[in-house]
Amino acid sequence: MKVLPPMIAMAAGPPHGTFGLLCESVAQLSGAAACWLETGRSIPAGFIAVRPDIGARLRELALQLPGPGKALSAAPGEVSGTVQRHDVRLPEGTFRLCSLRFDGCPDLDGMVLWLAFGGHGGTARRAMLEPALPLIRACMERWQRSEVLQRDLAAAERSCARLEQQVRTDALTGVENSRAFRQSATERLAPGRAEHGLILVDIDHFKRVNDVLGHAFGDAYLQAIARAIVAAFPAGTLVGRIGGDEFAVLADTPRSGTAYLAGLVACCRSGIQRAAAMLGRPELGRASMGVALSPEHAADYPDLFERADAALYAAKASGRSTAVFYEPASHARFNNRELASQFRLAARQERIRAYLQPVVQLQTGFCRGFEVLARWHQSDGRIRLPSEFDAVFRDHRIAEQLTRGMVRDGLDLFGRWLARCPARAGDARLAINLTTFDLLNQEFAFDLQSELSRRGLGWSSVTLEITEHVILGDSNGQIHRNLEELRARGAKLAMDDFGTGHGGLQHLRDWPIDILKIDRQFVSRMGSSPRDRAVVEAVLGIADRCGFEVVAEGIETADQLDQLRRMGCSDGQGHFFSAAVPPEEAAALPHAYDLAAGAAGLSSRG
Ligand code: C2E
Ligand code: CA
Ligand code: CA
Repeated sequence: MKVLPPMIAMAAGPPHGTFGLLCESVAQLSGAAACWLETGRSIPAGFIAVRPDIGARLRELALQLPGPGKALSAAPGEVSGTVQRHDVRLPEGTFRLCSLRFDGCPDLDGMVLWLAFGGHGGTARRAMLEPALPLIRACMERWQRSEVLQRDLAAAERSCARLEQQVRTDALTGVENSRAFRQSATERLAPGRAEHGLILVDIDHFKRVNDVLGHAFGDAYLQAIARAIVAAFPAGTLVGRIGGDEFAVLADTPRSGTAYLAGLVACCRSGIQRAAAMLGRPELGRASMGVALSPEHAADYPDLFERADAALYAAKASGRSTAVFYEPASHARFNNRELASQFRLAARQERIRAYLQPVVQLQTGFCRGFEVLARWHQSDGRIRLPSEFDAVFRDHRIAEQLTRGMVRDGLDLFGRWLARCPARAGDARLAINLTTFDLLNQEFAFDLQSELSRRGLGWSSVTLEITEHVILGDSNGQIHRNLEELRARGAKLAMDDFGTGHGGLQHLRDWPIDILKIDRQFVSRMGSSPRDRAVVEAVLGIADRCGFEVVAEGIETADQLDQLRRMGCSDGQGHFFSAAVPPEEAAALPHAYDLAAGAAGLSSRG
């Protein structure tokens, strides 16, 4: 009987002082004349009054008694009750009637415990009390049980809540995990709710941090970043870790618009930098961020995420370590979700194929190698050209996947072609088009190395083509460093579509370039436009003085070929020799072309 609610002690306590329920043994119980328990109106069977006659009369009196009950104060979480006391005069003596109504106790709720004190002397009282004891005890046991039950229930609820919290939480950082974030964000973005900003935060070069400084540091770094992100936003902001090194924040924007969010984002960026500095690594702490607003840019979570993702990749493509707000006009091309998912499916079904287009030495007709170009074979038999799916090049995951596929399949085809003429293995090359994402990826060089080794090829077997767009996307020098490294390993680097970008000539001075590719638009108009001819001549002049090789693209006619040869252009590619051919025809491509023949009359000399 240790766990007694305080109200019973009160009800049974002074002034008569002879009835104590807070006692340990029956011997200490004395003085109660009657005790019964009521549920609603009727006395339940088995409940007794010690002297049935007195008990019945007391009960009748009790039911007639007026007056409000006195509410017992109980500590939070305890059962509360209402107590009433009245003195009743009977021939047997004066009794003090106490009633105790339980509230809020699951087991005893609505029951009334009646106690009557006084009336008889000690012996008689004890005799009268004894039959009541089982009832009192039963009552108290029920109470105890319900207390235990309640405590169990509360404990179960607490562990449920803890479990729920665990299921929703990212174990490493303590913020919401990806699934929980998506769920909560979806709820918060329900129609008619406040305006929000979704901020995707991608830690720059995290993989490298992990590799170089170890996983323990990587974990501490992520934890510090999570704390910094949480601290940067107002309380109640939803923060989640949605990928290894990606966080997401859904912030209320009460003051609506980009200025308010820009302030928070700036605060978040400096918080992340501080966090890295506190870990003794001030050179880290860089993150790229993409921001989109709801409802301005999108109403529901999937669309909002897509917009923020598009902005994030714009931030990455512009060299990382920046925050970019979604702009419908410029980022729409990044988020062609439908196209991206179709493309992924096609890639899984091996319908993205590597085609090869020969690059020909213009003075001799020898095939110098090939450029590998992607073609999308649709299930209806149509073949899509890259210009119809170039949106996928803007998605870093797909772009990297595409490059990997082109490297793998292109090298296979190239290897088969070389097998027919091993003597060419030393000087023929396969040209591969790269995107910004490949060159921001530290793994690219290792992956390419293993693809080459697997086929017994060396780095001198590949040319890597980049456009000025790639160069312009390098704000922190990483692409430059990667290109230097690739070149040091022995790959040749080609500047693609030269003259069409916004770069200018300084790139030729500053970047590790071996080959200039003259864009098709200059070659095709060379015959009719003196200016285009002048551009071609100028490029050839620069190349000659600077020691670049040149590949003229888009040679379609004998006349173009003739002009280019006379201008001293070393190499070219174009439909005059061959369009890009499908994999099954690639191995049979000639090793040399007859330059005297027209497009239709080309013959193999190899
Ligand atoms: P690019 O790298 O400048 O590739 C040359 C483009 O010119 C190819 O178009 C080729 O088929 C086309 N071409 C070559 N000779 C002639 C010709 O005589 N006449 C005409 N009209 N066209 C000619 P394609 O295959 O449609 O590729 C377009 C662009 O898409 C490529 O331009 C390249 O930037 C990109 N691309 C293609 N495949 C890949 C790839 O696997 N990865 C990446 N990152 N980009 C790719
Ligand atoms: Ca190219
Ligand atoms: Ca080109």
